[in-house]
Amino acid sequence: MNHPFNSPVQPWNDPLFVEKGIHVSVKRDDLIHPFISGNKARKLKYILQEAIDAGAQRLVTFGGAWSNHLLATACAAAERGLQSTGFVRGEAVDNFVLTLCRLFGMDLRFCSRQAYRDKPGLFRAHFAAGQAFFVDEGGAGPGAAKGCAELIGELPDAWDHLFCAAGTGTTAAGLANGIRTAGLRTRLHVVPVLKGGDFLETAIRGLLTGEADFILHPGYHFGGYARTPPHLIAFIKYLAATTGLLTDPVYTGKVFYAVHDLARADYFQKGASILVIHTGGLTGIAGKLAEF
Ligand SMILES: *Cc1c(COP(=O)(O)O)cnc(C)c1O
Repeated sequence: MNHPFNSPVQPWNDPLFVEKGIHVSVKRDDLIHPFISGNKARKLKYILQEAIDAGAQRLVTFGGAWSNHLLATACAAAERGLQSTGFVRGEAVDNFVLTLCRLFGMDLRFCSRQAYRDKPGLFRAHFAAGQAFFVDEGGAGPGAAKGCAELIGELPDAWDHLFCAAGTGTTAAGLANGIRTAGLRTRLHVVPVLKGGDFLETAIRGLLTGEADFILHPGYHFGGYARTPPHLIAFIKYLAATTGLLTDPVYTGKVFYAVHDLARADYFQKGASILVIHTGGLTGIAGKLAEF
């Protein structure tokens, strides 16, 4: 099974890009599915296949209370006739994303931050091997990277620069692998959304299947994971109102901001072509309603 998701590539028009003489487009992975969104669809592709091949009836995974991965796993499992369990970090809460997870039949189990740290331990304590299939937080791992690498094969044109947001770095590693195997000279730019993304360099390198390079832009975490200062929110509003492109405040808003900010600072050469990967996750907006 090797079907491409083939999300469209659309121009991102902004007066700044005209002024700087650069071409910026967006790979609309957010359009892949409303809930199995963006990179999570790509990351789950081979994980789901592996679980089904192993004869598992239940996917067991992990995430925070607003996790795009939990939601994607819940919906994807339901689609395949699989059951799912989601361990949620922290005390019991309810919100839009968790309600959707439950609608897709996910059995949610809240656990302390301490217990959450040992995910394989939690899995073993609750499930017999063979019946349930362990999927790491965010779907991180080589299978997920393989799914993300396939995005590169969908690109009709060559790009000078490719930008993506990074949490675990799995998506970035997959893209780096895809660029290398396709023999492209595209430069991969990675925008960490967590503060202290030093672990990220190692995490990405650990998933590379060969010599590949990437540029980290550690200055766009906006204070840390899920931190959303007013200038970030203002940018997301500006982008949506002037282009129709909606971004989320946790991941994609930060990478779009980074591209706009780097363009302003003349980071790109005149004539450069830049592709931003919209990795989806728009339900994250519901987690920050008060800020908008
Ligand atoms: C999970 C997620 C990411 C981060 O992907 P990693 O592979 O963990 O780096 C980026 N963007 C969105 C919208 C996400 O949901």
